[in-house]
Amino acid sequence: MNPVFIQAPPRLANQFTGDAFLRAYLRRVLPRSMLQAIEPELTELGSLAADELYELQLADRLNEPQLVQWDAWGKRIDRITVSPLWKRAAEVAAQFGLIGTAYEREHGRHSRIHQFAKVFLFHPSTDVYTCPLAMTDGAARTLNVSGNAALIERAVPRLTSREPSKAWTSGQWMTESTGGSDVGISLSQARRDDDGTWRLYGKKWFTSAITSEMALTLARPEGNPAGGAGLAMFYVETHDAAGGLNGIRVERLKDKLGTRKVPTAELTLDGARATLVGDTRNGTRAIDPMLVVTRTWNSVTSAAFMRRAVALAISYARERRAFGATLSSLPLHVETLAELEVQTRAAFLLAFELVALLGKHEAGELDQDEPALLRLLTPISKLLTAKQAVAVVSEAIEAFGGAGYVEDTGLPALLRDTQVLPIWEGTTNVLSLDAVLRGGLAPGIAAVHSRIARSCASLQEPRLAALGRRAGELVDEVEGWIKANGDAPRMQAGARAIAMTLGRALQLALLVEHAQWAIDDEQDASGIAAAVRFAATPLSTLRAVDPEESRLLV
Ligand SMILES: Cc1cc2nc3c(=O)[nH]c(=O)nc-3n(C[C@H](O)[C@H](O)[C@H](O)COP(=O)(O)OP(=O)(O)OC[C@H]3O[C@@H](n4cnc5c(N)ncnc54)[C@H](O)[C@@H]3O)c2cc1C
Repeated sequence: MNPVFIQAPPRLANQFTGDAFLRAYLRRVLPRSMLQAIEPELTELGSLAADELYELQLADRLNEPQLVQWDAWGKRIDRITVSPLWKRAAEVAAQFGLIGTAYEREHGRHSRIHQFAKVFLFHPSTDVYTCPLAMTDGAARTLNVSGNAALIERAVPRLTSREPSKAWTSGQWMTESTGGSDVGISLSQARRDDDGTWRLYGKKWFTSAITSEMALTLARPEGNPAGGAGLAMFYVETHDAAGGLNGIRVERLKDKLGTRKVPTAELTLDGARATLVGDTRNGTRAIDPMLVVTRTWNSVTSAAFMRRAVALAISYARERRAFGATLSSLPLHVETLAELEVQTRAAFLLAFELVALLGKHEAGELDQDEPALLRLLTPISKLLTAKQAVAVVSEAIEAFGGAGYVEDTGLPALLRDTQVLPIWEGTTNVLSLDAVLRGGLAPGIAAVHSRIARSCASLQEPRLAALGRRAGELVDEVEGWIKANGDAPRMQAGARAIAMTLGRALQLALLVEHAQWAIDDEQDASGIAAAVRFAATPLSTLRAVDPEESRLLV
């Protein structure tokens, strides 16, 4: 008989206790008593993510949401069923307070870190159920800051509930076929009935998680001017009291590259009853708090997908043998994996810097220049971590050889799901322009300088001190570039490089800061290795731009 070889699959350890970097970060930034209080919960969620949810995810691979538009007797029903994992994820999300934690604020400004540590553990095992959760969090915050007491009272307790049977999720219906980046040209209209009820008419082109109970959306009240300022923000409940859809038709579910468990629909609004949240104008501004939150979720879920891909690749490398050794002892494979680990740490630290700032903001504890940092970091963290995630997950797939390309390993879905992260919640270009042109760039850069200075304040290790200086120099280079290229077309053309370079400068400083702490408090030198390696990657992408010359190529 021929010898038979069966490869051991990669295995996941408890996603909390097995994640040394996450745990070290939490030890560094959280008060010890708080960490002790939340560790059992994180351990339980880390176990669920590695065992029950991950197993269900693999078993559930071929289940996708189904839209049934008509019942047997010809009635339009537009009913959507979601996958078994999604149903379980909804329960876990409510019970673990994935939204509630941020609103209960048990740990003051650290509550957002607590919440997002859970999101980080939950996300990779739940088939992007974090999409509706992100929008739910965003809707709760947007309603809270809107000051609309009736809507706050009706929706926020449901959006933040820990009781699965009571918890709601929310959609965010902005994108129309005219454009998701330029929502100012949206065509949806809002008209008032004689009794004053607002009704919405139009088509929403990408509406994720259409199973949500409510949505925040934009429409133009009749008679309002064109452009973003003429749009208003509306609150819509998707179903009426009898359980039927509220003047909404689900035309079809999108057939997507990834996020295939997320029911993303094209909707027709045909007289959907809606409530005006605030002003009859300036809806794009009113919905802004939603975007701050969803972009934070995007950053954290980018880091989480990276962590999952690296955890699986490292586990596999310990099992798989080639040329007489495990992959984990082959120097070039180790180099490859080390690079992925470093990018993952850098993305994690930037994402959690944003999380920490959001938490401080909500607690009213931002220091002097931190509002400008929060403003600038929101687009930068989203765009940079999403790009890092696609690169890291793609390389991690290769680390499995052919197995990484085979569907029932579950690995291809990881890459496909990651690929959405640079697209939704603002594409890389659109967010680069938001960071660079929308205002606040100069105070934002000053705030990045002071944040880097804070990271460098207590550096003892000479190599780290040099890297900290390098981080500051990168920001100087950005300022120099802007001075030399300040005209509008060049600033647009260079916006991506400016945003990415600022983001990587901050990532370097955060790696350096963490590394010094890790040596001092934990005698762990891996942080130095990470910072040194990160600094050796291309950090600045600034270069001379000539928009006219570029046009010759397109
Ligand atoms: C799986 C999935 C789910 C989604 N769910 C939702 C949802 O629930 N709700 C919702 O509202 N939307 C949703 N979207 C839509 C998403 O937010 C948009 O696709 C995205 O904002 C881009 O808009 P667009 O598709 O119209 O592309 P466009 O706006 O047409 O952009 C096309 C390209 O042009 C570039 N571009 C645009 N403007 C500029 C500029 N000024 N300078 C340089 N480059 C530019 C963009 O970067 C992009 O590469 C979802 C999308 C996906 C893929």
